[in-house]
Parts: sequence; C-alpha cells; structure tokens
Amino acid sequence: MIKTCKICNESKPLIMFAKARNAYDKVKYLTVCKACKAHQIKLIRQKQKVEKINSQYDPEEHAKDAFKDDPRALQEVEYGRVTRNTTNLFSRSILDEFG
Ligand SMILES: [Zn+2]
Repeated sequence: MIKTCKICNESKPLIMFAKARNAYDKVKYLTVCKACKAHQIKLIRQKQKVEKINSQYDPEEHAKDAFKDDPRALQEVEYGRVTRNTTNLFSRSILDEFG
C-alpha cells in the first residue's frame, strides 16, 4: 500500500510511516513519514537546546543594579504629573485621653 506524506508530499510505501494505535486499539499509520517526523523532532531538539542555554542564570542581567535610571531623568520636567498631598484632619476623640 502506498501513502502520501503530508509534509514532503511524496508517495511512499506504508512501511515508511510510523504506526500508532487509536482509542479503539486499531493500528493507524501517521500522516507524516518517518523521515519527516525525524526531521521535525531534530528541529524541536535543536530549539530546546538553544532555549536551555538562553534560560541559564546570568548574574549580570539578574543583578539588583542591572537597570539604572538615566541621569537625564532627574532633571526632566514632568508635565501633567499629579501629586497628591494627604490632608490631616485634627480631631479630638474620647480615646485621646486614655492614649
Ligand atoms: Zn515526508
């Protein structure tokens, strides 16, 4: 029996396709040939390897003083910035005499 691969679009004998069993325990042949599947896995593993290297702890990047404010920011005039001052209301209560 000849089957066509979905990725490379080549007609190959059924032996070239990987087998899998479905929920009813019937043998099903995958739509991707073994060569294409191996190639996909190879790419995934290469990607994982790169991610593993990138995810390693970098002391320079994770240092506490890694991100510093620009010195020009101190002299910057912030137009439209709203600053709110708290209003303190001095009031007498009964508890003040005990405290
Ligand atoms: Zn293929």
